[in-house]
Amino acid sequence: MIEESREVSPPAQRLAVGLRGVRKIFGDVVAVDGVDLDIRDGEFFAMLGPSGSGKTTVLRLIAGFESPTAGTIHLGGDEVSKRPPFERDVNTVFQDYALFPHMNVIANVEYGLKVKRVSKAQRRERAVEALRTVRLEGFEARKPGQLSGGQRQRVALARALVNRPKVLLLDEPLGALDQKLREEMQVELKAIQRQVGITFLFVTHDQEEALTMSDRVAVFNAGRIEQVGTPAEVYERPASAFVAGFVGTSNLIQGEAAESVLGRTGIYSVRPEKIRVDTHLNAEVPVGEHAAAGTVAEVVYAGAATRFVVDLDAGGRLIALQQNLQTSSMDVLKLRDARVRLAWRREHEFAIREDVPPGLVMDGPPTTVG
Ligand code: ADP
Ligand code: MG
Repeated sequence: MIEESREVSPPAQRLAVGLRGVRKIFGDVVAVDGVDLDIRDGEFFAMLGPSGSGKTTVLRLIAGFESPTAGTIHLGGDEVSKRPPFERDVNTVFQDYALFPHMNVIANVEYGLKVKRVSKAQRRERAVEALRTVRLEGFEARKPGQLSGGQRQRVALARALVNRPKVLLLDEPLGALDQKLREEMQVELKAIQRQVGITFLFVTHDQEEALTMSDRVAVFNAGRIEQVGTPAEVYERPASAFVAGFVGTSNLIQGEAAESVLGRTGIYSVRPEKIRVDTHLNAEVPVGEHAAAGTVAEVVYAGAATRFVVDLDAGGRLIALQQNLQTSSMDVLKLRDARVRLAWRREHEFAIREDVPPGLVMDGPPTTVG
């Protein structure tokens, strides 16, 4: 998937969003450090990364609230790099919702259409439809202060959807909601996106949220994209040590352990749920599997599953996640300090890169990232 973003030709017509060599520097901070990205029409696309990795800046560049220091931005095949926000067919949903507190719900939702001088009757009709899409019929007369966080979030969404943009930009829109509501809204947001068919470009620092909702994910680190792929690709085949650690538990096998356990040099990753914990140390290793002996350093019982932290004899530490199919907490807790053998199928181990590939590094002076 990395190869895809190395492409230098201009973005194709059917792409909703195309970024080429985009950089953004604020003073001495390089916020975005050479990003190439293609987002297809109708995709639910997530930009995932830790705080400060440049996600919001990329969103603001696409919306036109910032202009790039270098590089180009295309929307629907047209270059928009120098166009003001109102000449771009996108709408943004901000984390803090940014509703007008003195206006009621319907007035908030109609606002964008009013600015565009859409007739009063049409405005009302489209606003009512947008409120129905987000399941807020009957709340038209309320003020934002009379709504719950989840309801305010829906108003913000309706206010953006009513304009029927080509692309909807969402910056951590569920960030202010509590966990349960957040999970409900993840499912609902995905359903709404399918229903309206608009391209959603979604920013989050929550890996589970990105994996649950998106068609594809771009993983950001220090102003750069480390990997672009489907949730399964970035989770099961992390391209770099950073992605392996940020999307899930890193579980790296490297150095001496790679040589003695795998018979190879390099850095490899195995996901915890792919690793079996075996107390029969001398049983034959099945064909197609690799096995490593070690000592259980920690056992964390979590109801449905147990996490084993195992220090390998060959060096390094792996985490294995086992479903509690037939075991109880008593059984697994007895394994603390026990000698065990970890085993996994070879097709579940993946070689990973140590650093950002040269193709993703753009020309320019040495930089610092704040
Ligand atoms: P994210 O959304 O991934 O948390 P941001 O895009 O907000 O990251 O920020 C990326 C980097 O750029 C951070 O180091 C941040 O402090 C910096 N930054 C963002 N906006 C500005 C600004 N207007 N002026 C100076 N630095 C900024
Ligand atoms: Mg941000």
